[in-house]
Amino acid sequence: MILFKQSEALSHFLQQHKKVQKKIGFVPTMGALHNGHLSLIESAKKENEIVVCSIFVNPTQFNNAQDFQLYPVTIETDIDKLLAAACDVLFIPSTAEIYPPAYQAKQYDLSSLETVLEGAFRPGHFQGVCQVMDRLLHIVQPHNLYLGAKDYQQCMVVARLLKLLKMDNETVLNMRPTQREADGLAMSSRNLRLTPAQRAKAPLIYETLANIGRRIKKVSISELEKEGITALTTHGFEVDYLSITDADTLLPAKANTPKKIVLAAAFLDSIRLIDNLVLD
Ligand code: AMP
Repeated sequence: MILFKQSEALSHFLQQHKKVQKKIGFVPTMGALHNGHLSLIESAKKENEIVVCSIFVNPTQFNNAQDFQLYPVTIETDIDKLLAAACDVLFIPSTAEIYPPAYQAKQYDLSSLETVLEGAFRPGHFQGVCQVMDRLLHIVQPHNLYLGAKDYQQCMVVARLLKLLKMDNETVLNMRPTQREADGLAMSSRNLRLTPAQRAKAPLIYETLANIGRRIKKVSISELEKEGITALTTHGFEVDYLSITDADTLLPAKANTPKKIVLAAAFLDSIRLIDNLVLD
């Protein structure tokens, strides 16, 4: 595995490989790698000749200073995991490399994606995601980009960003399934911060979503949303949202919406967990 810290050196290296028709797959991350991230690397390995992983805890996408400060950093074990997964390139830029002094933040038109669900509860978050992805996509210029369905709304935002940047012809966005622990909890770097008591409670988010999945044909949407929120709050979660939406727009679903998704975000004390489930 080759490690790059400078964007220019990485771009140059990848351009050389692109000239000889090598396919580049890209997996952007914030580190503290787990099997969710590694499943993306594995997918990318199957479909590309060169797999690039980036690790960068992007300050501009955190709307909560404490969440940023407490974000886990485990670079040594991350490198071991990437070596074991036969990742070809690791990009670990500094903040100044991504946002040099001359950097001018743009405003991205994300339409309603920015005002619903995560957008409503984390103001500025998706603008930050677009800022870092804009930089990374221009540096790496991948043929294939790999993102996890765990961050479903983020996938939709990045799909829109690729269009805004007119990069959607050269870069294909591949959304891959959420990897879960044996008890259903969606793998997440933030799980490292859970105490044993919180960890024991955390799978209730997925249980609640799965329960909605089983009953979606029999019970009304508003009833299911209400019951889901009650189930979580009675067990000590503070729920930001639990919403059943149209999977293509993330706007509220109606009974006859063909593809529905249920998405939830809830706090266990100061730790915010998210998850979602596409409903058949
Ligand atoms: P992060 O490091 O949390 O920014 O995530 C980097 C990428 O890994 C994003 O595309 C996430 O959606 C994806 N990811 C995070 N958790 C999981 C998971 N449990 N299963 C699959 N992909 C995931």
